[in-house]
Amino acid sequence: MKVELYQPYEERLVKSGLYDIFEKVIESERLSFEDGVRLYRTDDVLMLGYLANMVREKFNGNRTYFVKNHIINYSNICELDCKFCSFYRKEGQAGAYRFTLEQIFDKIRPLKDDIVEVHIVGSLDPKLPWEYYVDMIRGIKEINPRINIKAFTAVEIDYFARMFGKSYEEVLLELKEAGLDTMPGGGAEVFSERVREKLFPDKIGAEEWLAVHRTAHKIGIKTNATMLYGHMETIEERVVHLIKLRDLQDETNGFLTFIPLPYHPKNNKYAGEWTTGLQNLKSFAVARLMLDNFPHIKCFWISTGVKVAQVSQSFGVDDLDGTVREERIYHMAGADTSQYLPKNQIIKLIKDAGRTPVERDAYYNVIAEY
Ligand code: SF4
Repeated sequence: MKVELYQPYEERLVKSGLYDIFEKVIESERLSFEDGVRLYRTDDVLMLGYLANMVREKFNGNRTYFVKNHIINYSNICELDCKFCSFYRKEGQAGAYRFTLEQIFDKIRPLKDDIVEVHIVGSLDPKLPWEYYVDMIRGIKEINPRINIKAFTAVEIDYFARMFGKSYEEVLLELKEAGLDTMPGGGAEVFSERVREKLFPDKIGAEEWLAVHRTAHKIGIKTNATMLYGHMETIEERVVHLIKLRDLQDETNGFLTFIPLPYHPKNNKYAGEWTTGLQNLKSFAVARLMLDNFPHIKCFWISTGVKVAQVSQSFGVDDLDGTVREERIYHMAGADTSQYLPKNQIIKLIKDAGRTPVERDAYYNVIAEY
């Protein structure tokens, strides 16, 4: 296909060594591992954004999605002690908490006709019985059956299976029957055994994470995927991560969106460095280009700040998550973002970037366009 290219762009793509990737993008040709590494290493971040934006607009036009949601982090008392994690506490330690089901329902009830999605993620809490999770889902659905429940990472699902002597499929089917709609994408971290051994040796690795999502897709639960970057992983390990996700999506077509998540260094044992704005933008753009079978790339504004989130709409991102209301995991790791972004502010962030704000549900069905 011949594309008329603004002359300075053509020269710049040649100069940056990305012209062959541009040709692949316009032919919708799949990018290789080497292409992914080269994209991460480029210094020409504007050309990288230009390429990612072509794919973004091919998939989603000028739309940027958001959802009216509420996050519930039900407990931070955890059996593990992942080195990058600032959220977990041991039983009785200062800052440890565990919500009762009534506390959770009390958060949802006043918002029941306003929110569209509840996003539930917690720790691996050894004191909580199986009924707690099932009753949590069932109870929220009783408050308002129209609320989409996006709950439990693959790490939690694997934990439930081991704790309660069930298969992944049994766990997921029981939760689905109680009202689970979709699953978040957390807990993937980086698919690298080298990093896992150093940062989260007791947590599941790529094989189990992918197996949980494969099982969810098989029984009709759509899920999301993430990558935690900016700690000790290499660029090559990031690209391997993206390709593993792409392979599973080829197999199942069950992923809705990919969310690159920058590591935050406060209050955790690893105590690394903050990622920069450009590193974040690059991560969105490379993901958009490599994940040619993912319909959406999301910027979780809590993790990047709203300013980077706004710019990310020109670097492959078509989804800014949502109103959030209450988030603990990133805030305990030093995030200085607010807890809540009102709908009118999200709309402004999107409109000011020249995009069309689209309010969605958990499956990207359109609720309203502004
Ligand atoms: S990352 Fe999850 S599993 Fe690891 S310590 Fe934190 S809460 Fe526990």
